[in-house]
Amino acid sequence: MISRKLVLSFPPSLVDKLIIYRLVKEHDLEFNILKAAVTQNEEGMLIMELTGEKENYERGINYLKETGVHIQPLSKDVIFVEEKCTSCGACVPQCPTAAFVVEPVSRKILFYEERCIACEICVKVCPYKAMKMRW
Ligand code: SF4
Ligand code: SF4
Repeated sequence: MISRKLVLSFPPSLVDKLIIYRLVKEHDLEFNILKAAVTQNEEGMLIMELTGEKENYERGINYLKETGVHIQPLSKDVIFVEEKCTSCGACVPQCPTAAFVVEPVSRKILFYEERCIACEICVKVCPYKAMKMRW
């Protein structure tokens, strides 16, 4: 038996397809969705725990890959290095789960870690390297 936490990214063309349903029905896997979001580019993001017999699990992962779903293990966290943040706001519209909030009075960026699904988008867009991966 295998059980793994995964981050799945669905391109817009796949968001409304019954991919997870087929994963359960045709590959005999169990899943537990931990977080779900749709990005501004209409891309779907899902963090889930996927469990099943090794052979089924591998078949299921292959099915996802062949369908065009991007898969990465959830083995990391994103951390906010506050002293590097200039509150430039570049990350705010990019985050699919609204983990960044502009404090209305000071205009400072606040980071709500519990909303973060570790998609890494902000790590790529932050010009000041204030968002980092922790493995
Ligand atoms: S990694 Fe960054 S962009 Fe992605 S959910 Fe977390 S805070 Fe938002
Ligand atoms: S992009 Fe980086 S520097 Fe700009 S507000 Fe976001 S975390 Fe701060």
